[in-house]
Amino acid sequence: MVHQFSCRDTGHDCDFFLESGDIDELVHHVQDHAERKHDRELSRADVEDHVTEVQG
Ligand SMILES: [Zn+2]
Repeated sequence: MVHQFSCRDTGHDCDFFLESGDIDELVHHVQDHAERKHDRELSRADVEDHVTEVQG
């Protein structure tokens, strides 16, 4: 199972895309991106709301 996150899905005009087999790592990197690029704090639940699970 691979977890995918696209920043555009959160409403930003942003091409940031990330995929990882490790949900903890993905959440960490997405939170870091949101803070640095969008000055926005995302909770883990906020991130997980926009994560897509794909077989891989
Ligand atoms: Zn972004």
